[in-house]
Amino acid sequence: MSFEKNIRGECVRILGAEWVKDDPVTLYTYRCDGLTLYTAPPMGVLFPGTVQELVSVVKLLHQHKISFIARGAGTGLSGGAIPQDGSVIIEMARFKEVHEVDMINRTITVGPGVINLRITEHVNGDGYHYAPDPSSQKACTIGGNVAENSGGPHTLKYGVTVNHVLGVEMVLADGELVTLGANHFGLPGPDLLGLITGSEGTFGIISKIICRLTPNPEKAVTMLGIYKSVRDACESVSSIIGHGIIPAALEMLDRIMISAVEKALKPGFPLDAEAVLIVELDGLSDGLDVEAEVVEKLLKETGAITVNRARDEVERAKIWRARKEAFGAIGQISPSYYVQDGVIPRSKLPEVLDEISAIGKKHGLTVANVFHAGDGNLHPLILYDYENPQEVEKAHAIGEEILSSCIRHGGTLSGEHGIGIEKAEWMSELYSGNSLDNMQNVRAFFNPENLLNPGKIFPQPGRCAESKSGTPPQQASALNKPKMVASKSGIAV
Ligand SMILES: Cc1cc2nc3c(=O)[nH]c(=O)nc-3n(C[C@H](O)[C@H](O)[C@H](O)COP(=O)(O)OP(=O)(O)OC[C@H]3O[C@@H](n4cnc5c(N)ncnc54)[C@H](O)[C@@H]3O)c2cc1C
Repeated sequence: MSFEKNIRGECVRILGAEWVKDDPVTLYTYRCDGLTLYTAPPMGVLFPGTVQELVSVVKLLHQHKISFIARGAGTGLSGGAIPQDGSVIIEMARFKEVHEVDMINRTITVGPGVINLRITEHVNGDGYHYAPDPSSQKACTIGGNVAENSGGPHTLKYGVTVNHVLGVEMVLADGELVTLGANHFGLPGPDLLGLITGSEGTFGIISKIICRLTPNPEKAVTMLGIYKSVRDACESVSSIIGHGIIPAALEMLDRIMISAVEKALKPGFPLDAEAVLIVELDGLSDGLDVEAEVVEKLLKETGAITVNRARDEVERAKIWRARKEAFGAIGQISPSYYVQDGVIPRSKLPEVLDEISAIGKKHGLTVANVFHAGDGNLHPLILYDYENPQEVEKAHAIGEEILSSCIRHGGTLSGEHGIGIEKAEWMSELYSGNSLDNMQNVRAFFNPENLLNPGKIFPQPGRCAESKSGTPPQQASALNKPKMVASKSGIAV
């Protein structure tokens, strides 16, 4: 289908020629997101700047039955913004406005194109921040965060995006503008806001978001446990949580990752360590040092050879920079990486990490690890050369075996990066065909013709019965397939 022939002229009329692009460089740039293993060019890229423009282009695309995808910064790691069937991309980067800061209700209302970190920067002077802090927070947008229900190092204590979003304005697949939620908790009725958070851009295009603000803690203590074995570091994780202490963050880096961040950022991590564990405690000043002493003791009891405490904000920032820029540091040791996002019960960390290392060795590729240990959310980074087709194939195979291992150990497919196209076929490992049908019926309520971000989250029809890991689906549905599709007017507030 040709963009030129179908709708280009109409789009230019609505947006202006500057904001309608289908030149080869743009189509190449938008052919993938952060998951570079898969690529597909869009039909064209549109850059609306107002809600009215957004509604108009969505109505136009709907009228012509052309599929479309919202895109934020394109940092997604599961291919959610890849236009695999030549969809039109609607780039939301121009929705950068901070509409309102309401300190009494502790909320901030922003456009979806606002970069995550900018929200915290906007309110930090008043002693507040936006808690979910994906490591990509210098680049990713809040719209993408809501679509993916993003997490981050500090979501162990503070919760993920769904716990910090109070309302959204959203354009449905046919161009209808709806609002969900408000600047306070507790609207009656089913939690539609919870439903759209994490729906990976398949339920609507978010055009405004009301975020909850969190007061900055009075004090934070950041420690670095240094280990001779990954197993010992895993023992420390279990020990801290087992003692009823929930740190603000509990993050692990293995030896390969340590060498990469040392080359790129020089945080002073020991190159002969097998693992380091970043433990951050925060809260009221009173009692925090006592808690830190308890944690230090637990770390040492479980095998930490040294525990260093950041002495000031400069040292603390150095540790966090090394953690948050760790993926980028991989460029020092490999031309490319493919990151997985499986989740396992914390108690299984040692076994599964051993298995991941063995899987990498079997295929002859290195796997580095930097992850949210407190959540059991693994991020194995498979190092490969994108110009070597055999290594690309091996990277795919290792990724599949890692997912399979997570599922066999009672875990799941994604902690925070979403399902996208990457793991859509894996959904039938977790859910019965009946459950998947039920979920798709919910999607069909918001997006009945599947024009909005098609091909994401769910397996292609007919694939549900196949099992990749050899285990039966874990979450068989007790529900029967619903017969109805409710009236859409019920969502508009
Ligand atoms: C180095 C690096 C580190 C990362 N660390 C983390 C981490 O710690 N935690 C974490 O959770 N993720 C992490 N990610 C993944 C990624 O940053 C998040 O998924 C982020 O939320 C994506 O935001 P984005 O603006 O880039 O969205 P995109 O990649 O542009 O889009 C992602 C999905 O959101 C949808 N979408 C985007 N905007 C809208 C909108 N306005 N309305 C509806 N749907 C929309 C898209 O259609 C797509 O399905 C990391 C990625 C990188 C590259």
